[in-house]
Amino acid sequence: MTRIHETALVHRRAEIDSDVEVGPYSVVGACVKIGKGSRIKSHVVIEGRTTLGEGNVIFQFATIGSVPQDLKYKGEPSELIIGNHNTIREFVSVNPGTTGGGMVTRVGDRNLLMMYCHIAHDCVLGNHNIIANGATLGGHVVIEDYVIVGGFALARPPGHHALPGRAMGFCLFNNVAVAARFAQRELGVGRVAILDWDVHHGNGTQDVFWNDETVFFASLHQWPFYPGSGGPGEGNATTLNVPLTAGSGDDVVLEAFTEVVLPALLGFEPELLLVSAGFDAAASDPIGELELTAEGFAALTAHALTVTERVAFVLEGGYDVQALPGLVGSVLDST
Ligand SMILES: [Zn+2]
Repeated sequence: MTRIHETALVHRRAEIDSDVEVGPYSVVGACVKIGKGSRIKSHVVIEGRTTLGEGNVIFQFATIGSVPQDLKYKGEPSELIIGNHNTIREFVSVNPGTTGGGMVTRVGDRNLLMMYCHIAHDCVLGNHNIIANGATLGGHVVIEDYVIVGGFALARPPGHHALPGRAMGFCLFNNVAVAARFAQRELGVGRVAILDWDVHHGNGTQDVFWNDETVFFASLHQWPFYPGSGGPGEGNATTLNVPLTAGSGDDVVLEAFTEVVLPALLGFEPELLLVSAGFDAAASDPIGELELTAEGFAALTAHALTVTERVAFVLEGGYDVQALPGLVGSVLDST
């Protein structure tokens, strides 16, 4: 892979080939074309009239298609074209073209727009895009078919061990707990259920809602295992723990889910189900010792969707980074 050094200044009208790593912190353009399969690293600034190919990854805090100062106010058209299958990471800004009649910002199909990225006004988004929670869209954005908004938050780090007062177990903030409280306070949702299928017990989430009858917490996890909580008999009217022995596979997990967890979730009658979707219960995971397959996660997803009309997923653990995209895909394909 060709590398453009960090902090480089790349000339106007440059054409950058495929499979190039740009930056971080470099400034590129304006009027540039970048091929496919490139990695635009964090804090890169790519100025306006940009054409990006397919399958690129744009990292955190990059700014794409910003208008160079000397083009501003002269009415020159400035367009930004992003192809298909790109991953736009957290806090990336995708800017509009300049005014003056020629402005276009078009994002292709099957892109993944991660948390807190911003797509500016007057953009056109193609088909089958996934827009994670916290991403923002400016005014006049045209969204074509089959967009999933807020369906699966690809959050890192995970959150379910984080306690109200401190971080724990790779987790800084308890994302799913914040989402539940936000839904209740800002969206008027009353009863929220949280289903946690990460291989570890979601002790932080359990602690947050232990005395809260409006939030039902159900966790399936390997036990005994980190963090040690969630053992047999630990629970109350709105806290359900299902400890599973190491080596349990699809059959055991799905039986426990359909016999114990699903009836409890249905009985609670939640208006919203949030899933703490960890993938460290996968057979290939280097940390967890459960043996779930992609088909197992797909079956869990299909069952979860029967609990209530509104279901959203938040990524928790999952440490086989080669398998993780396919496992997340097995959930997305089942929704
Ligand atoms: Zn975990």
